[in-house]
Amino acid sequence: MKMTWAIFLTLFWSFSLFASPWESFSQPNRLSPEAIGSYANGCLLGAKALPLNGHGYQVLRSQNKRYYGHPNTIAFIERLSSKARSELRTHILIGDMSLPQGGRFSSGHTSHQTGLDADIWFRLADTKLSSAQLSLPKPKTLVDMSAYKLSSANWDNRHFRLVKMAAQDNEVARIFVHPVIKDKLCSLEGANRDWLRKVRPWWGHNYHMHVRLRCPQGDANCVDQKPPPKGDGCGAEVASWKPAKAHNVKTYRGSKTNTKVEKSATSTTVKVKSKPKKFLPRQCTQLIDHSK
Ligand SMILES: [Zn+2]
Repeated sequence: MKMTWAIFLTLFWSFSLFASPWESFSQPNRLSPEAIGSYANGCLLGAKALPLNGHGYQVLRSQNKRYYGHPNTIAFIERLSSKARSELRTHILIGDMSLPQGGRFSSGHTSHQTGLDADIWFRLADTKLSSAQLSLPKPKTLVDMSAYKLSSANWDNRHFRLVKMAAQDNEVARIFVHPVIKDKLCSLEGANRDWLRKVRPWWGHNYHMHVRLRCPQGDANCVDQKPPPKGDGCGAEVASWKPAKAHNVKTYRGSKTNTKVEKSATSTTVKVKSKPKKFLPRQCTQLIDHSK
């Protein structure tokens, strides 16, 4: 029993010690807008807040203050929402974007640091959610996780149209969805397959898509990702994600350790390599130093 408490306290203290300093900013800085660093190691100057009362969307869990972004991201969400409102007759639900000055969240995903990532839920709000529902929202998964197949009860063809709309936006570099969802999108598209290249399979994206914008023009300190591999990524590539054993489906959520799992486009081999230690860009460490 004593031992369990000791472990608990150690975990508790290490969590408090390493809770992200970025969570303590309650406002954006007043610098001109610039995304600094890479999606998973950077920060954001001159962030804009997504208005909490906008047209065609609603903001989830605004109490977490993750509704900030680069002005390009705010403009993208407003563009997509107003299209979704008129063409899909719904409101889209906006999950995590970035903190007021970007940087690392103390919990959850490691990206979203430069104000260019936004999670958009697959649950569509045909009727607007109440503020209580927004602060404690219930997700809607599009994947039957234990069977590794699409949840046909929750699938709506508007999901296809929404992901396609987002992918066809010029500012969008990538969209992450669960491999089962990517496979469904592949099967529904006909000849116009270019946009599918931007839709990348990744674990954990069964109830939301993660939209990633490219670096804004002129942001010299913003680090883009390499473009996705050529082609639509359908067929062999998406099939390679299917776990060999059914029990892996339930448990596998991606690596939490300091390793990177890369799936090759054509085979099922998984390469595991250590990540080099990351150093935060100077402009970001300055933000933290000035706040002390
Ligand atoms: Zn995300």
